[in-house]
Amino acid sequence: MEAARSVGPFVVVGGGIAGVTCAEQLAVTFPEEDILLVTASPVIKAVTNFKQVSKVLEEFDVEEQPSTVLENRFPNIKVIESGVRQLKSEEHCIVTEDGRQHVYKKLCLCAGAKPKLICEGNPYVLGIRDTDSAQEFQKQLRKAKRIMIVGNGGIALELVYEIEGCEVIWAIKDKAIGNTFFDAGAAEFLISKLMSEKSEAKIAHRRTIYTVEGMRKENRTKAKVENVGSALGPDWHGGLDLKGTEEFSHSIHIETKCEVKKIYLQEEFTIMKKKPLTFPKDQHKSVTVDKVWPVYVELTNGKIYGCDFLVSATGVTPNVHPFLHGNNFDLGEDGGLKVDDQMRTSLPDIYAAGDICTACWQPSPVWQQMRLWTQARQMGWYAAKCMAAAGLGQSSDMDFSFELFAHVTKFFNYKVVLLGKYNAQGLGSDHELMLRCTRGQEYVKVVMQNGRMMGAVLIGETDLEETFENLILNQMDLSSYGEDLLDPDIDIEDYFD
Ligand SMILES: Cc1cc2nc3c(=O)[nH]c(=O)nc-3n(C[C@H](O)[C@H](O)[C@H](O)COP(=O)(O)OP(=O)(O)OC[C@H]3O[C@@H](n4cnc5c(N)ncnc54)[C@H](O)[C@@H]3O)c2cc1C
Repeated sequence: MEAARSVGPFVVVGGGIAGVTCAEQLAVTFPEEDILLVTASPVIKAVTNFKQVSKVLEEFDVEEQPSTVLENRFPNIKVIESGVRQLKSEEHCIVTEDGRQHVYKKLCLCAGAKPKLICEGNPYVLGIRDTDSAQEFQKQLRKAKRIMIVGNGGIALELVYEIEGCEVIWAIKDKAIGNTFFDAGAAEFLISKLMSEKSEAKIAHRRTIYTVEGMRKENRTKAKVENVGSALGPDWHGGLDLKGTEEFSHSIHIETKCEVKKIYLQEEFTIMKKKPLTFPKDQHKSVTVDKVWPVYVELTNGKIYGCDFLVSATGVTPNVHPFLHGNNFDLGEDGGLKVDDQMRTSLPDIYAAGDICTACWQPSPVWQQMRLWTQARQMGWYAAKCMAAAGLGQSSDMDFSFELFAHVTKFFNYKVVLLGKYNAQGLGSDHELMLRCTRGQEYVKVVMQNGRMMGAVLIGETDLEETFENLILNQMDLSSYGEDLLDPDIDIEDYFD
């Protein structure tokens, strides 16, 4: 058995950001060795234009590329376009859909996650994960007068802002919007933007726009339906025309503190003789009064709305299923493959990175795992480093990117930077918040504990990210600065130089 373990190439499963980054890094480290990238999707995701914005903040574009581009760049990477249907961990081999077996000496599982759907198998409930599902959503939206969005994370936030010409009922289980990213104050700041008509022209997208080319469409039919494609990346909606049938821009009604109780198809609902509510806003001439809808949704607050379809944006579940049969993996509470500080799963020679894994090391006090593309890249890169070190009987020092949680994104056209324990996650009641807000311009919140900065939310062009990143990293005692810390008349950067 030992002999079998040292033979075979490094094998990486998954052509998303984590898998591709891992394979690339292995290819660079071991130019003489073959690296096998096995993926269910016909295209791979490549990180391009990588920019280290500050010590920890990073920005990059994500490009969908045919796998041949990766093979041409790295002659020692061989891509196999076939989903893994079984893992035989004892034999150190994987079995692909095409029936072939591939022996590995070390394996890294990067198969991503799947959207958690509020209801499986209902054609009126859409989830958005990859290019195909985003295209399907766009197709349905073109014919829609009213849709319901369920969920309160990043995808829901982006959708409600981007959709035009269609009534949107947004059902969230929290008190305030964007609960995953913001506190109620930040939500309030953003909501005024959401409720105003979208007057400014859409700013040019800096990032790659996703398109589905004919070549890929053809390939797509080969991919098995149950195999998920890669998750979309930044500006995933940039290439989509998210417009319904009507001429207005935003028309949003938010139902808070509720979940979906039941979904009725039209025939079912007609028999029940229940009356649905009309759209609660009168921002535009409603075209939906007395309309008969294809589907009706009953919320846990008792309200019933009709709509053309629902979007389920209620988070993801790690895509571990294909690898579990016959293998005794330790799983995290969120269902991911548990990994230690060397990105090792609980089974020998099997590593995991990206959305599929659950980080189970003792984290830095200002880092937490979130299933985001920056972390997918960092984990893929670090896993390759650990796999290489293990081959030499060594271990790797934890990468610096795991010292501080840092995420930069865009919501409602505002730049949003999240640092450390930006929502006071896990800090209990023993913390203070400091706020600075200029309506329509910026929202700055810092989380302080024992005089130290633990986290920050920066919305708008605040220019504070680098200074705050340093203050969180060096854990300087800031007690004596008090409110000056957020005084707009004080140049905070000079203060700490
Ligand atoms: C709509 C949407 C918007 C998002 N927006 C943002 C955002 O703005 N910012 C952000 O940071 N993050 C965002 N995310 C999250 C981000 O896209 C993911 O965290 C990231 O892409 C995860 O990368 P990954 O490589 O782990 O997995 P994935 O990108 O999902 O890749 C998984 C790969 O595994 C392959 N695979 C699956 N099963 C098998 C199998 N059995 N055998 C072989 N291969 C298999 C798939 O084909 C795919 O190539 C968004 C996600 C979605 C869905």
